Amino acid sequence: MTDDQRDDETLNFFGLPVRVASMDECERTAKYIVCGRADEPSPFTDNKIGQCVVCGVPVIYRPYMPEKVAKLCIECFPSTVNPS
Ligand SMILES: [Zn+2]
Repeated sequence: MTDDQRDDETLNFFGLPVRVASMDECERTAKYIVCGRADEPSPFTDNKIGQCVVCGVPVIYRPYMPEKVAKLCIECFPSTVNPS
């Protein structure tokens, strides 16, 4: 069994089912990581800084998040993921 086959665990995230995936699978398959903007308050001092792929604002993300996946700010999230 590979890490990608270990997919039985699902979390409830604000009423939405979220499947737990390995870091490797996330790096290969995730399209975006939704991030807070860097000018918003955060309780953490070790956030990493990235850039929103849509609007270019600086964004923050936790150190354990996949580094290679595109970062998307919370403001661009709705229109990018569900354009209308
Ligand atoms: Zn943005």
